[in-house]
Amino acid sequence: MSLQLDARQRAMLEEMGVRLFLPAPTLEPPRPAAAPAVRRQPSPVVASPDPAPLPVVRAPVPASSATGPGVEMMEWDALARTVVACRACQLCEGRREPLLGGGDLQADWLIVGEPPNEDEDRAGQPFTGDGGKLLDNMLRALGLTRRDRVYLANVIKCRPGGNGAAGPEEVAHCEAFLRRQVELLKPRVILAMGRLAMQTLLASSEPLGKLRGRAYAYQGVPVIATYHPVYLLRNPADKARAWADLCLAQAIVRGEVPA
Ligand code: SF4
Repeated sequence: MSLQLDARQRAMLEEMGVRLFLPAPTLEPPRPAAAPAVRRQPSPVVASPDPAPLPVVRAPVPASSATGPGVEMMEWDALARTVVACRACQLCEGRREPLLGGGDLQADWLIVGEPPNEDEDRAGQPFTGDGGKLLDNMLRALGLTRRDRVYLANVIKCRPGGNGAAGPEEVAHCEAFLRRQVELLKPRVILAMGRLAMQTLLASSEPLGKLRGRAYAYQGVPVIATYHPVYLLRNPADKARAWADLCLAQAIVRGEVPA
């Protein structure tokens, strides 16, 4: 499996600290000793303007509690209204506004990140700040943007603020929304970025390093687990592994490897 990259895409990866002579990822679990070569000195993240706001589906809070169909039957507008009004777990106390997600409703890629952080909560969209810029650059190297064939979402819709922490209980309350997003989008691949996203979608407590490098399934959709961009900013040596994971996801989207 290989991707045809033009000179600009190659330069972008080099600037991100991703070397191009990576071993091709396989559908088998990676061998611990076979870590790909990486740069010794990480390069700074490529500066790019803050991403323009995504077409996030928003709706006013309904005057009364939802009495319509269950989440599993909802279309986008009803889903957005229900998330905005949701007070099913303690995270509703510290949120500014729930984040349903945003992007292309015809997306091939669904990228699921961790619960909203302060930046995302403030911006009202997933994957903002320097981590978002790194993700944008990686997507651009694949010929994608967060507006085109990509939909971004958080595994949990409200920011854990104050003493609030997101864990299995909050996931149990909130997962129905993500499940419905998967049903509505019908993506070709799901990229689970970060520990909680991976644990939720793969129903596993194994470390991410053990699970990445092969495809799993969530509601019949192939799932690739990889590192969150914010983690990659702190651990640039793992950018090459994340890039290999994105290439595997791209190959699945293109039908080049069996899902
Ligand atoms: S995190 Fe999810 S379940 Fe909890 S209040 Fe927010 S939308 Fe509702």
